Amino acid sequence: MTTTPSVPVVMTLAGHDPTGGAGIQADIESILSMGCHPVSVITTITVQDTSDVIGIAPLDAELIVQQARAVLEDMPVAAVKIGMIGSVEGVQAIHTLLTDYPDLPVVLDPVLASGAGTALATEEMVDAINSLLLPFTTLLTPNSPEARVLAQGCDTLDACAMFLLEQGCEYVLITGTHENTARVQNVLYGNHRRLEAYPVDRLPGEYHGSGCTLSAAIAALLAQGIEPASAVHEALTYTWHSLDRAHRLGMGQLIPNRL
Ligand code: PLP
Repeated sequence: MTTTPSVPVVMTLAGHDPTGGAGIQADIESILSMGCHPVSVITTITVQDTSDVIGIAPLDAELIVQQARAVLEDMPVAAVKIGMIGSVEGVQAIHTLLTDYPDLPVVLDPVLASGAGTALATEEMVDAINSLLLPFTTLLTPNSPEARVLAQGCDTLDACAMFLLEQGCEYVLITGTHENTARVQNVLYGNHRRLEAYPVDRLPGEYHGSGCTLSAAIAALLAQGIEPASAVHEALTYTWHSLDRAHRLGMGQLIPNRL
């Protein structure tokens, strides 16, 4: 038998998107591409195509946590990525789980809407994410509309980031695809201030799963002990290339090529 050096284990808790563009499959591909072993906990089954989400069926909160606990008690999970959760009960259950693993790096991608704008989270879930998950989050990765929803009432993105840091997360990366700027402005905040900007060239297409790709890649890089600012830089570059060579496989958004 040949032994291979062990690889960092990265857990994703996310929804399943049958198109393979977003959700847990995106995370698995992204984590694999970063040289880690993905372990995957499904939170929600979705019905969707590359244009929009047609239906969502959140799994029972207890089942989500049972899936995660079985793996966490067996394998040396080095980082966690959380994507779509699907219910307030799911948020509460994941909160309880995280209280048992307070030292695990957690990347939280607050999935609030599909690319086409269909709501994937309720107002009650937004409150629960803020109060129960942000205190356990190492790095939060909202796009700019998500940052505005989470930081209800803040007028600038800088102010949104300060609000979100005050809820207890260590870093916030606000991605700027949805802003009307020539280049996409991605900005990392931490320690009560703006830390670094990572502008990238704007790509022409519409993509399914770009946020999932980015947040899972960051989690995998953190699992390897890479510092957050470098992990963000490397994951943004990886995501940009995945989008640049995306496949047109359906009639709607393009599918990132993560492998
Ligand atoms: N997770 C699931 C299961 C989804 O269906 C979606 C979008 O439809 C997302 C995450 C978010 O995708 P994106 O990375 O494009 O924001």
